[in-house]
Amino acid sequence: MSIQYTTNLAGKPIVKFNCPKCRIKLTARLTEAGNVEKCGDCGTRFKVPGEDRLKAMKEAELAKEKAKTAQEAEQKRKLEETQRRKAAEEANRKDVEKRQAELAQEARVRQENQRKEELKDSTLDLSDHDWSSGAPYCYELVQTAAVTGSANWLSEFGGLINARAEEGWEFFRCEDFTYVQPGGCLGLGAGAPVSVKVVVFRKPADFRRKEIHADQSKWS
Ligand SMILES: [Zn+2]
Repeated sequence: MSIQYTTNLAGKPIVKFNCPKCRIKLTARLTEAGNVEKCGDCGTRFKVPGEDRLKAMKEAELAKEKAKTAQEAEQKRKLEETQRRKAAEEANRKDVEKRQAELAQEARVRQENQRKEELKDSTLDLSDHDWSSGAPYCYELVQTAAVTGSANWLSEFGGLINARAEEGWEFFRCEDFTYVQPGGCLGLGAGAPVSVKVVVFRKPADFRRKEIHADQSKWS
């Protein structure tokens, strides 16, 4: 008996064979392989052939289904991996930003401290002064070239006094000092005596203490 496997017009697998007794040509769907049927012509019972073929077809479909499932799982795994990588990159980016912000803040604090130090160096620091001594005034000394050389020394001198007066410093007195300038290399050739004029201003100690207190509040 010759058996032929093919497909019908709808593309479904079919099996063509002959009746084992009357040899008439018969056709059945492959999915019916193994079923016991009866020849419409001679009435002989027979088993539809193609059981191995059907089994192979089912296994092939199963393998295809498995491959599809595996492919979907792989795609899911890749997607999750991408999401994990992006999350890690985002976390890393935030870490870098945070570190940069910390460094910037540290730089600001350093700069601010430096500014405080410079301010401390450039101002008369009386923060350690023992105000309980009851000294009524504190003093500021200003070395000036005015008075001695300039043609309009009077207006320069007056300008200095008035500028200090606006800051609350009262002109107290003028003092002349003479000192010998240190020599150059190896202390040779010490210079001639130098005279300087120093203008002394004063301010009520209590008032000055309040100013310093205000300064410290501003920077703390
Ligand atoms: Zn038959």
